[in-house]
Amino acid sequence: AVSDDIDLSDALTVVMERVRPHIGEGKVADYIPELGRVDPKQFGFAVASVDGEVRSLGDADVRFSMQSMTKVFTLALVNQEGEDHIWGRVNREPSGSAFNSLYQLEFENGIPRNPLINPGAIVVTDELLGDTGDAFAALRALLRAETGNPELDADEVTARSELETGDRNRALAYLMAGFGNMRNPVPEVLDHYFRQCSITITATELARAGLLLARHGVRADGTRMIDRNAARRIMAIMLTCGTYDAAGDFAYRVGLPCKSGVGGGILAIVPGRYSIAAWGPGLDAKGNSVTGALALDTFTQVTSCSVF
Ligand code: GLN
Repeated sequence: AVSDDIDLSDALTVVMERVRPHIGEGKVADYIPELGRVDPKQFGFAVASVDGEVRSLGDADVRFSMQSMTKVFTLALVNQEGEDHIWGRVNREPSGSAFNSLYQLEFENGIPRNPLINPGAIVVTDELLGDTGDAFAALRALLRAETGNPELDADEVTARSELETGDRNRALAYLMAGFGNMRNPVPEVLDHYFRQCSITITATELARAGLLLARHGVRADGTRMIDRNAARRIMAIMLTCGTYDAAGDFAYRVGLPCKSGVGGGILAIVPGRYSIAAWGPGLDAKGNSVTGALALDTFTQVTSCSVF
């Protein structure tokens, strides 16, 4: 059960004590050369509560690459057109394989396992491009509003770095096109997808943006973006699929809907209460932040804040 008298300052102190000796652990994602240049010895953590209070520690105001965490927000955007809109094109089962794996796509007829791995997210971006005419602009506008940072933007150097080295993503997209599961030209979809991934954010901003889900679909300005059920279902997908082939271990350790990115960020939601952002650039073998996972594991242990 969630207790109502959590002292966030105490919890954050414990998180920092537990994480500090591990700062710098893990390996920065160097398959995207620009991400390989990030100093691994950084750690930021921020908790935003649904009433708008934000607590943060460490490097919570340093910008980093959102990467796969954008997948949650594009999914929310396509859900605006109606919840069932996307589900003929992408499933919602955990993949149990790497986020950029090709082999399931081949024998599952070009239908990705879920929207939170690369092929699924490419389909969502394709769909959003069809809905809006500019998927990247729609995502950026949403994130600018929810973070409260009107300057939030893509990092063009990282986007180019991804474009130049993105052969696996091209392979995924063309394989889906071969199965008839792409609506727009692949190079155009990937241009939006790479810029989407390269958006930079701080832990504090990310915690604020995640409140969209913690409030079950209500935006920072108080208007409803997606209905309550849609928000609940997106969080269910985060729990089962949001940390790639480590989702089972995250459910066990953290017990919250989470979404990670290879920039080292992890967004976690305590539905109805908190949005939590953890960032440490060093990743484990599955592409999740080592210190981010440790911080969330510690936070849920000391606060008993989990969905279980
Ligand atoms: N931009 C990255 C890629 O497409 C996103 C992957 C991730 O964060 N897991 O490879």
